Amino acid sequence: MRILIKNAFLVFEDRVARGDLLCDGRKIVQAGGVIDAAVDKVIDAAGCYVFPGFIDTHTHFDLEVGSTVTADDFVTGTKAAVAGGTTTVLDFATQERGMTMMDAFRKWENKAKNSSCNYGFHMAVSEWNEERIAEVPLMIENGVTSFKMYMVYDNMRLSDGVMYEAMKYLAKEDCIIGIHCENDDIIKARVKELKAAGKTSSRYHAVSRPNVVEADGVGRLMDAAYLAGAPAWVVHLSTREGLAIARQARERGQEVYLESCPQYLVLEECMYDAPDGAKFVMSPPLRSKADQEALLSAMAAGEIDWIGTDHCSFTMAQKAAGRDDFSKTPNGGAGVQNRAEIVYTRAVKGGYFDMVQMGRLLSTQAARLFGMYPRKGVLRAGSDADIVIFDPDAPHTIRAAANLHNCDNSPYEGYEAAGRARDVILNGELVVENGKLIAAGKGEYVHRERCGRYRQ
Ligand SMILES: [Zn+2]
Repeated sequence: MRILIKNAFLVFEDRVARGDLLCDGRKIVQAGGVIDAAVDKVIDAAGCYVFPGFIDTHTHFDLEVGSTVTADDFVTGTKAAVAGGTTTVLDFATQERGMTMMDAFRKWENKAKNSSCNYGFHMAVSEWNEERIAEVPLMIENGVTSFKMYMVYDNMRLSDGVMYEAMKYLAKEDCIIGIHCENDDIIKARVKELKAAGKTSSRYHAVSRPNVVEADGVGRLMDAAYLAGAPAWVVHLSTREGLAIARQARERGQEVYLESCPQYLVLEECMYDAPDGAKFVMSPPLRSKADQEALLSAMAAGEIDWIGTDHCSFTMAQKAAGRDDFSKTPNGGAGVQNRAEIVYTRAVKGGYFDMVQMGRLLSTQAARLFGMYPRKGVLRAGSDADIVIFDPDAPHTIRAAANLHNCDNSPYEGYEAAGRARDVILNGELVVENGKLIAAGKGEYVHRERCGRYRQ
């Protein structure tokens, strides 16, 4: 299949240029200039921006959380992803205690069959011992070169010392480990205190884990990484205080990668007071306008590396488990379909940064760090034909019911988006046309190389 995209604004890593783009089979063969060639399909992209396929660095599909499981599995989650312009998701395969990493990898491989976008896995680990360490080469062989550890959640939580050891070991292998940064002890104490005072509604979820709780975790991570001589990667950064600490670490010469999420750019803590406030119960919680401003400015300044969704969806019936006790609410929200349109509306239309920076934050930098570049993340001859045609002038209202996710709510319900992914090419095939998914189940596993540590 040869597809020719005409009259587009092509978004390269350093500029936007008018031109055409030609795909042949699974690859881009030419990006830029005027192309006239015999093809199977011509797409007129006049007025639209053409990006390398977006990469969502942070999803949780088909994840068991306590006694429940996320509303979206890979079938529904990846349909929503690709409809929103995401051609690759990096989901967190989870090594539960007593399980091998290989068990977790096989389990996730199985879950991800029939995905509608490409997918790779980070390995979230709950143990770090000789057995797990011995599995690292096997993970690398299987294309898993990024890992995750949590400072919270009793079934996953690891100590700072363990994180230090893991970071030190993995840095030598040019693998990286992302950390969920929060102070678990303080959260537990505050939850206990709030519940004893009868403060059990959703808004107290945020009260139980204020900004400094994240900043403390970021600080401990930075110090451990400093001593380990390893890169530090903060997942879902949400606060200006955490950002300030990461900045200080960079100032003393550390290699720091920062991820944030759309929810921390457009949603606010006061939303917990809504009747459906439980849908905003996620960790870290929603913050303030001042935090949004700090994160957006940091994105504009190139201090934040990429934007993932942390899509971890639950229905309102599942969320109701926390009706009388916020701490029993399953944590997470649905966002995988709406990332690009929200970032575009809030940050590009809002005047914080341009389309080039949007391309870096939604695709290129993730491709680089996570071992997929230049196969993905760039419009270049020889790169994979994963492409998004983004219409900057397509105003619409986000509705959970219109999303392809399998969830009856969206934290972005009612959000007025200014643009949207119009067409999506995945592995050389047109899978989304005029915003409609026309070919499902076309996703493939992305075998990733070692990390491309571009801040080293
Ligand atoms: Zn997450």
